[in-house]
Amino acid sequence: MEKYSSEYLISEITRLKKLKNAIILAHYYQTGDIQDIADFVGDSLALSQKAASNTADIILFAGVKFMAETAKILSPEKKVLLPDINAGCSLANSCKAEDFKKFISDNPGRTVITYVNTTADIKALSDIICTSSNAVQIVESLPPDEKLIFAPDRNLGNYILNKTGSDMVIWNGTCHVHEEFSLEAILRLKKENPDAKIIVHPECELPVRLVADFIGSTSALLEFTKKDHGNSYIVGTEVGIIHQMKKENPSKNFIPAPPKDSTCGCSECSFIKLVTLEKIYKCLLNEEPEILIEEDILIKAQRPIRRMMEISEKLGL
Ligand code: SF4
Repeated sequence: MEKYSSEYLISEITRLKKLKNAIILAHYYQTGDIQDIADFVGDSLALSQKAASNTADIILFAGVKFMAETAKILSPEKKVLLPDINAGCSLANSCKAEDFKKFISDNPGRTVITYVNTTADIKALSDIICTSSNAVQIVESLPPDEKLIFAPDRNLGNYILNKTGSDMVIWNGTCHVHEEFSLEAILRLKKENPDAKIIVHPECELPVRLVADFIGSTSALLEFTKKDHGNSYIVGTEVGIIHQMKKENPSKNFIPAPPKDSTCGCSECSFIKLVTLEKIYKCLLNEEPEILIEEDILIKAQRPIRRMMEISEKLGL
């Protein structure tokens, strides 16, 4: 149980941010109370862009470790804090550097594209990073006959493969949230709510993607709900995004897609939800846990992230 009231925590966080010239970046999957105190809320691409272009001395990342590492790689001179150092990612954990080195050497002569949901040492082994917002466009920006490796999410990899037809070998990783959505439960919900559109993230399994009216990154899903004329949506991604969807579309109805196991809270990312207001307060107060990355890895990881950002900028993403 938290020792402090939300009001106290919010006022202390606001005071400490000002005192220390700190900003809070929060992912759309974060809980609503944390999204509301953040200086910037976004998906991985937007958060990377923000991390690379701000004047704060401290970045507190209300997200998971790979996100905070990306901020550190892009802004090595800043202090980057993560309120709970155990906030990892099942997808990033599915791709270990030693195994990935072997995968690359088993598939020689291929350009290595990795999803931002990877550890810093995997990024250091990559040629270009992508996010779900720009993955298809990044692949399309390369010569059509270029042979590729994609890691670590097999569902996003297959989605890109279907869109681009590229010669691509794909690492077999998944996210514990997106692979858990139940096709049967989604179809049952659709029957009960025939006007609802099914909107899902490309990290979802193929059968779920096949019944979707729209597939996109978290920011693309949010945009879709703003522009679309419909009133009701079954949302197949981490449930935290619904906070922003409701804020942007107060009159519309959002139904979280259910997981296969109805007794678990699997449509919530158990890692990102480790971050709480109290941990943010203590983290800002004590300036720890801090994200530190070996210089060699950090320098090697900068190049593929910057390449992603240059391509994204050119494409207006
Ligand atoms: S939702 Fe999935 S991919 Fe995103 S941080 Fe959580 S485990 Fe990783």
